[in-house]
Amino acid sequence: MRRVYRFRIFIFYLFTMTSTIKKNNWLEILIDQKEIFGDYLFIQKDEILNKTKDSNLIHEKTIKYKSDYSELDIFNSEELQWVDSKTLEELYSRIKDCSKCILHKNRTNFVFGYGNSNADVMIIGEGPGAEEDKQGIPFVGKAGMLLTNILKAINFSRDEVYIANIVKCRPPDNRTPFQEEMDSCFPFLEKQIELIKPKLILCLGLTAARGLLKKKESLAAFRGKVFLYNNSIKVMVTFHPAALLRNPNWKKDCWQDVQEFRKLYDETINNQ
Ligand code: SF4
Repeated sequence: MRRVYRFRIFIFYLFTMTSTIKKNNWLEILIDQKEIFGDYLFIQKDEILNKTKDSNLIHEKTIKYKSDYSELDIFNSEELQWVDSKTLEELYSRIKDCSKCILHKNRTNFVFGYGNSNADVMIIGEGPGAEEDKQGIPFVGKAGMLLTNILKAINFSRDEVYIANIVKCRPPDNRTPFQEEMDSCFPFLEKQIELIKPKLILCLGLTAARGLLKKKESLAAFRGKVFLYNNSIKVMVTFHPAALLRNPNWKKDCWQDVQEFRKLYDETINNQ
């Protein structure tokens, strides 16, 4: 009897505690867990959507849209002119009105990238947030300020590196971009990398790492290792600054990552 009583108290305590945590906080906790552990515990939202009747319609629309675009690719050579861009400015002017994926519908600004067009280091994030969408510049909100400080701590300035994202238009409510959106946008980032020719890339967060390296690892598996992009550019991975703002206790691990990245940069530059 006493045990039952204790159990009831425990349930009551649990209910009281959980009900004080707001929905948004739960979402942030789940997003952070996903950031670290990957998809082992989660089903992708687009996967769920594709299984429902309504989302079948959305999915069909996307497929139709994609195939429409493929036809454009074939018959409208103007659509492909960006591929021949010789400078970032040229590339920007040719893709700034892009409507290849659904994300163009809600954007205020197309967020191309920012920084030194001859940078040795590129920083790649996931996608624009609210402030970035408003200003058209990547990493300008609170997370952007933190990124500036992280770069300063390893003796880089924002103007010295080049900062870009996996997708160039803001996903609604800052959700993770869907795979088809990343696939649509990735050729633009590839072209930017081709024009800038960085020696090293630092990916911020799981989406950036997976998008660039095309591997389905967890963030824990990506961190602390050196990967090669296109068999030539060294890539390391650390936390997204927005995740650090939500979990300041991860800053210590991020500090170790960026110290390693700086060491790799110095070795790479000195061995040229
Ligand atoms: S996210 Fe990329 S592919 Fe999609 S509309 Fe924007 S620029 Fe185009």
